[in-house]
Amino acid sequence: MRLGGRVYTGGMNRVRKKIVLEEMYGRMMERFGPQEWWPGETAFEVMVGAVLTQNTAWVNVEKAIGRLKAEGVLEAGKLHGLGAKGIAPLIRPAGYFNLKAQRLWNLLDWFVGKYGASFERLEGVATAALREELLGVTGVGPETADAILLYALGRDVFVVDAYTRRIFSRHGLAKDDATYEELKALAEEHIERDRQMYNEYHALLVMVGKHYCKPVPRCAECPLRVMLPKGSPLLKAREDAGRMTNDAMTNDAMTNDQ
Ligand code: SF4
Repeated sequence: MRLGGRVYTGGMNRVRKKIVLEEMYGRMMERFGPQEWWPGETAFEVMVGAVLTQNTAWVNVEKAIGRLKAEGVLEAGKLHGLGAKGIAPLIRPAGYFNLKAQRLWNLLDWFVGKYGASFERLEGVATAALREELLGVTGVGPETADAILLYALGRDVFVVDAYTRRIFSRHGLAKDDATYEELKALAEEHIERDRQMYNEYHALLVMVGKHYCKPVPRCAECPLRVMLPKGSPLLKAREDAGRMTNDAMTNDAMTNDQ
């Protein structure tokens, strides 16, 4: 069985997608509660974290940000002044530190050079134009750009990540080879355009992805298990998991009886 395989039915209409996405949100919120992302004390810290978190666990980002704070350089002007070579050893815990130092410096060069490191000046720029500018910075891809827009700048853009892709695909909302922009459009066209909603939705998808929707999914325990589409191979896996649980319970009972 190809557990991670394509389950997209292609038959879900716009109204149905909206209903499914709303129900997903409700079920995730019920299980996990508000996540209140992004972990960061200031907009600038969130911006730095969005670059450092590429391909690494958040715990490593926290260590790197902790070092920047301890060195007193978690400010745009100071970090920019260090250059990529000066930043690299400080962010070592985040992994790929030379590459990330260069990417972070590129972002800082744009922020300091064009906007004088002023978030107030960014406020005057339309979201679409700002997104284009961010995407023009070498090393800032769509996920990083959207994370900065949503979590640092409070714009109502939906952030897509690998978990989003996997969950949407397994639930028949999108093809598993859908592009980033297609997945973003799917979410933004069917989920109420509200930055707080987008903030929580992305964070909740990360919770589902981290705990349940792994390469080999743990559907039996997942809050979205009842929403698996008809015909999904994962339904069979769910039944098997249920049987295994029941068998285990029966075996436990027999053991206790002996
Ligand atoms: S039920 Fe949960 S683990 Fe299973 S495919 Fe859906 S989101 Fe992933």
